[in-house]
Parts: sequence; C-alpha cells; structure tokens
Amino acid sequence: MTNMLRVNEIFVSIQGESTYAGQLCGIIRLSGCNLRCRYCDTRYAYDDYFLATVDEICNQIGQYQTPLLLLTGGEPLLQEESYELMDRLSCLGHTVLLETNGSIDISRVPSGVVKIVDIKCPGSGESQQICWKNLERLAPSDEVKFVISNQEDLEWATQIVAHYQLGKVCRVLFSPAFGWIKPSTLAEWIINHHLPVRLQLQLHKIIWGKEARGR
Ligand code: SF4
Repeated sequence: MTNMLRVNEIFVSIQGESTYAGQLCGIIRLSGCNLRCRYCDTRYAYDDYFLATVDEICNQIGQYQTPLLLLTGGEPLLQEESYELMDRLSCLGHTVLLETNGSIDISRVPSGVVKIVDIKCPGSGESQQICWKNLERLAPSDEVKFVISNQEDLEWATQIVAHYQLGKVCRVLFSPAFGWIKPSTLAEWIINHHLPVRLQLQLHKIIWGKEARGR
C-alpha cells in the first residue's frame, strides 16, 4: 500500500517537552522505533498502529486548529511518507516540531521544521546508534535533548556539550529520565558547572502522571 503512514495516535494536548513546553499542541505519534531505550515510555508505539494517508492525517489534526504541531514516535523518520507529511503541515501554516531519536540522518527534514534531536546517553543502552553527523545539520532554531539516567550520563552529556560547543549551535535540553534520577540532581549539576543548557521536565507526566496516554 502506498502513501499510507502507520500512525499510533493523534490527539491534542499541552506540549510536554522542549522549549515549546506548556503550549497547546496537536500531536501525531507515528508507530515503530529502531531503538529500545531502557527508560522508554512509549513502548505502546512500537507495534500498535492504524493506517492513514497524509491527507487523512492533515484533516484529522486540522480539526484541533492548533498553530503548533508535534510529529513524534516511535521514530517518525523511519517512514518515508513522514517527509511529505511535515512538508504539507508546514505549508498549511503550522509550526511543526519533529522529535527524532538521533539515529537517522536529519538532512532531508524540510527546512522550517524545528528538529528536536535526541543524543542518546550511555544509560539509554543505545548511544552506539547516534548519527554524529547530525550535529552538523542543526539550525539555530533546532534543539538537542539529552535524557539523563544517572551520574555517568550527566558527565558524558557535559563532555559532549563542551566538545561540540553545542550551546553555540542551538538550544540544549537536559531532561531527567522519569523515575531514574532526581530533577534536583540535574539542577544542581547545571548550576555547579554553569552549563549552557536548559533543564527540561516532562510537563505532561507532572500534570497527568507517567502512565497517561493521549495526553
Ligand atoms: S527512541 Fe524513543 S521511542 Fe524509541 S525506544 Fe528510545 S525512547 Fe522509546
């Protein structure tokens, strides 16, 4: 079947992550992921899906009338049609955010889409999958995100930020893996090391709890 995407869910909520956190946001979650992070909180998106065309997705998300849209997963870039979808949503006048796990080349993502790129720390168990070339493909409007599970991750992420001067490239987010490390540990580390990063808490989990779906 051509031009169909595997979609896990489409809903409207408050954007929970990135510097756009707190804003009303239409969310499209595509199904399937090539990684298996230890702390993954969206395992339900690995295999569950319904099929929809780009047109159908645009119509459904359009009903929410939100200027801000998020394309997430799973890993959205595994599906070829995701590029057409981002293009169409941008052309409709939305601000489109793409959350991607950082293992796939982001150079074909349409310009104008805000790329929020994970840099997988060792605690994820998937740091060997990082596509390091992506760090050369970031725009100032993009964001990189480190999900921190433990002290080793904190030290590793700090070294990567310094080595690649990421604070001068784009916005940098440090996010505690929910339930693995205390937010206060990250906050104190950022203060003590004067890091050019932003502490990010997963707002949707604070509001609705860590098991909530469609939120
Ligand atoms: S990349 Fe995201 S969706 Fe995929 S396993 Fe890791 S946390 Fe889960």
